[in-house]
Amino acid sequence: MLKRSVCFDDVLLVPQYSDIMSRKDISLCSSLDDSLKFELPVISSPMDTVTESSMAAAMCRSGGLGIIHRYNTMEDQSRLVRNVLEAGAYNVGAAVGVSGDYFDRTANLVAAGVRIICIDIAHGHHTMMRHALKTLRNTYGNAIHIMAGNVATPQAFNDLADWGADSIRVGIGGGSICSTRVQTGHGVPTLQSIIDCSTSDRDATLIADGGIRTSGDIVKALAAGADFVMLGSLIAGATEAPGDPVYISGEMFKTYRGMASKDAQLAWRGHTASVEGVSSMVPVIGKVASTLDDLETGIRSGLSYSGALNISELQSKSKFIQQSSAGAVESSTHISKRL
Ligand code: IMP
Repeated sequence: MLKRSVCFDDVLLVPQYSDIMSRKDISLCSSLDDSLKFELPVISSPMDTVTESSMAAAMCRSGGLGIIHRYNTMEDQSRLVRNVLEAGAYNVGAAVGVSGDYFDRTANLVAAGVRIICIDIAHGHHTMMRHALKTLRNTYGNAIHIMAGNVATPQAFNDLADWGADSIRVGIGGGSICSTRVQTGHGVPTLQSIIDCSTSDRDATLIADGGIRTSGDIVKALAAGADFVMLGSLIAGATEAPGDPVYISGEMFKTYRGMASKDAQLAWRGHTASVEGVSSMVPVIGKVASTLDDLETGIRSGLSYSGALNISELQSKSKFIQQSSAGAVESSTHISKRL
């Protein structure tokens, strides 16, 4: 019998008795480790159309975190990091790979003031991840926080934690611009991976990554056991995302592309290997702070429906039910005409 899996639209959270008088009483604080605390459990993705200096600084101002992408020279990436820290942001993360210049890149980033290094590869449950994690952990001890991923299974989550990861990005194949499942037949619905990985007894922080479209998805991810969510498409249209807006039929759009898309691969390495992403356009949404405010309002409301004052109460009090495909239709706005 094949194991069944659920995705965000397959489930709902059942409203619970609440004695919360104001959504302001709810805390959305979350920690990457004992010394890295955040007021908003949201991280911007290390993609070249999502996070450079402006996005990372804005994420920090809003209580979250930005991870500067690695699709540049190490000097350029270090400059982007310095710009964020100069702009007065105290927390910024930066991504590295597992081969090539990753060791020197990390050294440059640490010298530039980064404390959060994200080892960022498509298939994180890999011997090269093991090597990179052990090497960086042996070199830096606990002086840096190491985020790693992506993974989809509890075995992978446990292994990365045992190899030295402090936080782990969970989700393979669910990203809005991702074609991994089409190209390779591999992946696990992001919500199912969160449910599975949250059973781990390891101390690593779980970051849900890929396929998050709404504050409702964020509440489901947190309720299922995520400590943070990572966002791409939801914020790629923000003013602070890299790239200039273009006009199409009178509306403004920005490019948003998978880092394994043909366009992105040609731009950062001059040739393509397996193409596992697409390039797209997303509507311009203005300042990221206003999108994050809207998301925060929805998340607070979500916790209040579960009678939860904070994320750990949400995880202990919330109850999921599965819904039918007819239920999923009812669950989205379904009036036939809208003004
Ligand atoms: P989104 O929030 O649904 O747009 O998904 C963003 C996530 O997709 C990122 O944080 C990565 O984990 C993942 N991702 C980025 N580029 C690619 C790609 O080219 N192929 C597959 N997944 C990708």
